[in-house]
Amino acid sequence: MALIVQKYGGTSMGSPERIREVAKRIAHYHSQGHQLIVVPSAMSGETNRLLGLAKQLNAEPDGRELDVIAATGEQVSVGLLALAIQNLGIKAKSYTGWQVKVLTDSAFTKARILSIDDKNIRKDLAEGNVVVVAGFQGIDEHGNITTLGRGGSDTTGVAMAAALKADECQIFTDVDGVYTTDPRVVPSARKLDQITFEEMFELASQGSKVLQIRSVEFAGKYKVKLRVLSSFTEFDSQDRGTLITYEEDENMEQAIISGIAFNRDEAKLTVAGVPDRPGIAFSILGPIAEANIDIDVIIQNTSFEGLTDFSFTVHRNDYAKALAILNDKVKPLINARSVAGDNKIAKISLVGIGMRSHVGIAAKMFETLAHENVNIQMISTSEIKTSVVVDEKYMELAVRALHTAFELDKVPV
Ligand code: ASP
Ligand code: MG
Repeated sequence: MALIVQKYGGTSMGSPERIREVAKRIAHYHSQGHQLIVVPSAMSGETNRLLGLAKQLNAEPDGRELDVIAATGEQVSVGLLALAIQNLGIKAKSYTGWQVKVLTDSAFTKARILSIDDKNIRKDLAEGNVVVVAGFQGIDEHGNITTLGRGGSDTTGVAMAAALKADECQIFTDVDGVYTTDPRVVPSARKLDQITFEEMFELASQGSKVLQIRSVEFAGKYKVKLRVLSSFTEFDSQDRGTLITYEEDENMEQAIISGIAFNRDEAKLTVAGVPDRPGIAFSILGPIAEANIDIDVIIQNTSFEGLTDFSFTVHRNDYAKALAILNDKVKPLINARSVAGDNKIAKISLVGIGMRSHVGIAAKMFETLAHENVNIQMISTSEIKTSVVVDEKYMELAVRALHTAFELDKVPV
């Protein structure tokens, strides 16, 4: 008998019929003698609908009230799912985040979990209940309802598993595992049996939407055994999905590159003809940071006749704001020649722990892109990741070419 946390995403909870299917899946695991804590998301589209309502009444809504509104989506889900489970003759009991309670900090709309009280849950499990806990939500020390950021039910699931020392945290979603890249872009993308936390973390932060990045961080930190599975296939107790492991164990597939992530979420800004002297990077990025804008890739050229160009990327939502800061504040301040921007870019990242021990990965990446005539605008690397920024219209072409070049469609030997 194992203690298992199962998280079901919005599409899995999308309709009464879908919820009934989820309940049946839970019943299968229950009949095998496992103890289950189930964490559902809001029904698909519901969180967007709720936040949309809020925006109609106030263009700049207060975070505290947004959380009061958004948290109702998951409250409905837990009640409905508990009813569906009970309908199969199994005892089930639902909890909201504050009933549990899931204590968080007070950062509304992006709160962090501080602790979870497992007293009631343990008691209910011991009495034979399936315990259904609302994802995405908690309560702060002052009694305010909080939410954990979009996609936050993943984090609730992992945090529950950590708090209760569960044997496994299973994330059920509409794909049957983690793929080498998005199969909608590369049909020959391959499902991975295993991937390390570090790789999953990089993939999630570079645009893979399978798991919320914070949940991966949490799972790595608390050594939660995490598995991604589909809730759309027939129940199959042999289905292993993708296991996210915290160690490179011996059975791990020996691929150098595990996956390719991509996103169109960023925009590029360039300040050209800036004097190359100490303090310049700070003069440019200081005002950007002051405006609470996150910066991702940064490049600065070597200078030519005392002048250099400086480029960086920000989230596309912050593009207009960042451009205005550069034009109005930075340009006159440092006497730059010009400011330019481009929000039609895409970032493509190769991720793999094999990069630590293999040379030539970046060269092969650039060769592949050159072959396809794709111009690289920016490059950034970390220990297990190489990213390039390209024109967004070449994104899919580039991802496909890289997927083939690195033989990601073949099972590594
Ligand atoms: N319902 C929330 C959202 O849409 C949380 C989740 O789905 O994980 O972001
Ligand atoms: Mg989700």
